[in-house]
Amino acid sequence: MSVQQESPAEPLSTPVDGVEVLGALSPSRAGDFLTCPLLYRFRTIDRLPEPPSPDAVRGTVVHKVLEDLFDLPAAQRTPQQARDMLLPAWEALVAAEPELTGMFDEGAGPDIASWLTSCRSVLDRYFTLEDPTRLEPAERELYVETLLESRLLLRGFVDRIDIAPDGAIRVVDYKTGRAPGELFEAKALFQMKFYALVIWRTRGVVPAMLQLVYLGSGEMLRYVPDEADLRATERKVEAIWGAIRQAQDSGDWRPSPSKLCSWCAHQALCPAYGGTPPELPVRDAQPEDLTVEPGLLTVRSSPPTAPPVSDH
Ligand code: SF4
Repeated sequence: MSVQQESPAEPLSTPVDGVEVLGALSPSRAGDFLTCPLLYRFRTIDRLPEPPSPDAVRGTVVHKVLEDLFDLPAAQRTPQQARDMLLPAWEALVAAEPELTGMFDEGAGPDIASWLTSCRSVLDRYFTLEDPTRLEPAERELYVETLLESRLLLRGFVDRIDIAPDGAIRVVDYKTGRAPGELFEAKALFQMKFYALVIWRTRGVVPAMLQLVYLGSGEMLRYVPDEADLRATERKVEAIWGAIRQAQDSGDWRPSPSKLCSWCAHQALCPAYGGTPPELPVRDAQPEDLTVEPGLLTVRSSPPTAPPVSDH
């Protein structure tokens, strides 16, 4: 096997259903690049590890409880039931990823009792926004993907899809952070339009509603997309992918400092903060860019005040 610099931007020549795919993009990674090209490089190309954060892991546990809640008969989907499901969900997560307990080492963060209390508050807030006894989701934690004509694969996980009796589709995403200000609202909606584009391409139906449920502040953001929106989203996604390829060709993964830097795990390596990025990795040429990112499944970033476009 030939060895070359890993590149998400080079042709991967990986057949998916018999079609050669050029590369793959999720809303999280697209959001990374929009936030900061260097952050995208650190996460997607260097694959630098990031320490678990209490906010992100709270998101993971809360998502799991809300996913499992709908396995129960409608009448049992109560706030107390959700609270009771919290500890088992946390214990199952720790069994799979024991290093998560490091978040609570002395001096490293909050103590576990107050963190669990904050998880319960977030779950309680969910019930002020929706009544799960009146909902029967069609899908939960659904992996979606579609191949654009350019042979770029779009993919991601949708928290919940509701389908009305008339076939109308509602795409729902839970955020454990607060509702964004105007500046970040477009970024949050971009993720939802990305999912809507994939659903439109795969099911032939434009979702009737995109709904972001902000459990940190108890607010909902709703948006009704149309075909023109989704075509514009496709053009935007293609433009982002073009910019990623350009950065790869030029090696210019420049930092883009913003207030989101305070959540960045890689400040010490960032030239904007006096650091030096590592050499770009050299790996066997493999279509790793087409594997499902574990982060999408297990950790969701939901900073408390200014959420970036996130993981789940
Ligand atoms: S610290 Fe800020 S500018 Fe630097 S890589 Fe992170 S997000 Fe980008």
